[in-house]
Amino acid sequence: MSGFNELRLTGVGRRFGTADALADLDLTIRRGEFIALLGPSGCGKSTALNCLAGLLPLTAGSIWQDDQRIDTLPPEKRGFGMVFQNYALFPHLTVRDNIAFGLRMRRLPKDEVRRRTEAAIEMVRLADHASKLPGQLSGGQQQRVAIARATVLEPSLVLMDEPLSNLDAKLRLEMRTEIRRLHQSLGLTTVYVTHDQEEALSMADRLVVMRLGRVQQIGTPEEVHTKPATWHVADFMGYRNLLPLTVSRVDGDAVVVPLGGTTVEGVAQRPASATSGGEILSVGDEAIAAVRPEDVRLGNDDVTGLRGRVEVVEYQGRELAAEVTLPDGVRLHTRTDRKVEPGEHVSITITPGRLLVYPSDGSADLP
Ligand code: ATP
Repeated sequence: MSGFNELRLTGVGRRFGTADALADLDLTIRRGEFIALLGPSGCGKSTALNCLAGLLPLTAGSIWQDDQRIDTLPPEKRGFGMVFQNYALFPHLTVRDNIAFGLRMRRLPKDEVRRRTEAAIEMVRLADHASKLPGQLSGGQQQRVAIARATVLEPSLVLMDEPLSNLDAKLRLEMRTEIRRLHQSLGLTTVYVTHDQEEALSMADRLVVMRLGRVQQIGTPEEVHTKPATWHVADFMGYRNLLPLTVSRVDGDAVVVPLGGTTVEGVAQRPASATSGGEILSVGDEAIAAVRPEDVRLGNDDVTGLRGRVEVVEYQGRELAAEVTLPDGVRLHTRTDRKVEPGEHVSITITPGRLLVYPSDGSADLP
């Protein structure tokens, strides 16, 4: 199947027995985009990918490639390429034959098979290994073969399910750049499943953050990182301080909440489902405040009135990460560039505008 301008998933769902592994997925993928499906284990990422691939029939919704409905087509008719975590290479075929396999299956002329195979080998920088068997390659090299084998067929969409999870940390970093480079140079459209937020943030044009089978937020890395739509997304994006509390005062989007025997100001966050207008939070509401450790700074001046006792100190590159207990017993993850010791009493400053306050949704899975 040739390329498309847009791939649209509308109300896509997949139920196993009585459980929704995936529900109400609405997503438009534009040609050339790199989309990451992100979320904790079991949130429905692989289910979404398998529905797209045609490996799993939908139990609700439809998938459209421009004006053509494709969710009723078998996988081979969709013309998508797939790259899995376990590479799924043919162990008895050389790198070259693994890559050429799909082209031969299509009964393309020999010359064309040779030309396209060699170009793909060059593209993934495996020219020196083309005659080897997969078992003679490193994990990263095997994953490059899998990528070449999927992309040599010039698929309209490439689906990748945690392709880097079997690699060591250094190779994972290298392969992130490599995959992004291939995506760009081959003009691919890519849907990439990962549970690693850094991987998703660094590679994708847009992220689809999922939880319990449902989309929590769709946005650019910057949007998801700086304005998480729910406290669950914040949790997933490294807002390690998640504080259940009761709202003391409200002035539009500015809300005042109690913390450490004093009060601090935060910014009320509108849930994606809420219609605009009206106040998001009222005095007395149960809420969850979220702030990153990087935005909770230690100092020795007492400008904010917020103070605490240092409990644990860890080196984190150029800064120290410190856990601090406040007079009300709340424990905060903080950062500091000055030397602090456990037991020391310190003042604490929260970067203005960075304490996000979400309406409590009653879910009981606070970390
Ligand atoms: P992981 O990263 O661990 O693979 P995921 O986000 O990809 O997780 P899915 O594999 O899509 O999650 O699973 C979503 C939910 O659907 C899980 O609760 C899972 O147990 C359930 N599920 C997936 N496949 C099946 C199946 N074939 N039969 C029954 N339940 C299933």
